[in-house]
Amino acid sequence: MDFLPQYALLNSRELKKTGKIILFSENESLMAVPDRKEDPLSYLLDRTDSLTRGDNSLYLIGTIREGDREREIYALSLSPGSELPSSWTWVSFSEYFRSLDYKQQFPLSRAKQILNWNRTHRFCGSCGTPTEPQKNEPCRKCPACSEMYYPRFSPAVIVRITRGNQILLAHNVRFTENLYSNIAGFVEAGETLEEAVRREIREEVSLEVENIRYFDSQQWPMPHSLMLAFTADCPRGNPVPDGVEIEDARWFTPDNLPHLPPPGSIARRMIDDHLNSILSVKSSIK
Ligand SMILES: [Zn+2]
Repeated sequence: MDFLPQYALLNSRELKKTGKIILFSENESLMAVPDRKEDPLSYLLDRTDSLTRGDNSLYLIGTIREGDREREIYALSLSPGSELPSSWTWVSFSEYFRSLDYKQQFPLSRAKQILNWNRTHRFCGSCGTPTEPQKNEPCRKCPACSEMYYPRFSPAVIVRITRGNQILLAHNVRFTENLYSNIAGFVEAGETLEEAVRREIREEVSLEVENIRYFDSQQWPMPHSLMLAFTADCPRGNPVPDGVEIEDARWFTPDNLPHLPPPGSIARRMIDDHLNSILSVKSSIK
């Protein structure tokens, strides 16, 4: 399955019969899924006339290609009290998103961010005039002062800190009990990514790192973060948690790991990558 992002503001008559819809609650905190979820892409709802009637804003967010079949994918948020098709139910978006892999997350991430951006940019931040959505471009223009608003991302860094076989993991005050993960935080205005990595680690656990390398990235639509993942070495020192964001931070070895982040997160992917690299070194020594 390949997903190609596209954009158009549509009315219900423009929907293709073969198209599918991703359905959200009004503030995008909930999404609709069928009661039975065997298919990973089962959150795609067949276009149904009863839902798309009325003056709801519908967005084309892309096309899914499976073999030589193409399907347009639309995003729609329903007003409170709207009835879902029978055997469909509302679930927490962030929980559901975390249960999927990257390919399944991509259309969902885009749908959520397009809806969120349109909902939160209805007025010009500069002069307060209602903005005008454009038909075929993800842009909302202010008719009074010509300010233009595009979907925004908030870049955040996440860094895997290691020392040989050991990995540094921290418990954030917002985490569920016993969950430990990598150090992460938003990039400050004016800062480079590497500076953000160094600053977050200094602030949260009072350590210095070297050899900062790019790992990978992940869109994290809660509501619009772009996670930029790095790895770094920390040759000396023990973590001192800041006591504000970080309650506890420790060096862990592969045989003594805490409760880890869910598989759908880049945090977990980085941790698994570290564990796999230790395993492959061990097996090559044998
Ligand atoms: Zn304006």
